[in-house]
Amino acid sequence: MKLQAVSNRKLYVQIADQIRDQIVSGTANVGQQLPSERDLAISLGVSRPTVREALIALEVAGLVEVRVGVGAFVKSQGGGTIGLPEHNHSPIEIIGARRLIEPEVAALAAQNIGPESKGKLLRIVDTMHAEIATNRWSSESDRALHTVIAEACNNLVLREILTSLWDSRSEELDTRFHQHLADISSVRKHILNDHSQIATAIINADSATARSAMSAHLRYVESAMLAIWD
Ligand SMILES: [Zn+2]
Repeated sequence: MKLQAVSNRKLYVQIADQIRDQIVSGTANVGQQLPSERDLAISLGVSRPTVREALIALEVAGLVEVRVGVGAFVKSQGGGTIGLPEHNHSPIEIIGARRLIEPEVAALAAQNIGPESKGKLLRIVDTMHAEIATNRWSSESDRALHTVIAEACNNLVLREILTSLWDSRSEELDTRFHQHLADISSVRKHILNDHSQIATAIINADSATARSAMSAHLRYVESAMLAIWD
């Protein structure tokens, strides 16, 4: 009986490995543009978002530079020792999970939030306005806002689930993925507007609006992650 090993490594890691082998073996030289996401997706038989995760993983590993709207370029041939962020979760799966959970958490937060958390929310939104005014965006403020909402929902189990989701969201791969989005000024502004609407609805104890605003926010972020970049 001849059995084949089943790989349970994440798909993006397997794809990144294949592209890395091409780069390290010298098939693609430093400075050279890699085939487009679309062409890689077709030739590897996977979805474009998986190719995107793989390219960003290679970027985190220092082998590739991703230029949104242009393409991916070989940055270093590495010598085969550079490690991929293997243990990172898939950014597309993280946003998928957040979309299922966070709208309900926002609705609960609108019912349960206390004065102290209201103050925190307002301060974080103020910080976000100041950041956007100087063309900045920070993962820390983003996490702070969503964390205050998770705390305010008054359910320790949900809060712990979200802490674990945000630990995944803060991994290098997902942070880099979001940074690419936040480099686009229209995306930064859209996200700030979303965050203000969510905070206002929660502070006003408006559960239905909090739920729909959080849902719209995460749908928007997911669509930006999946939009065509090149
Ligand atoms: Zn957000």
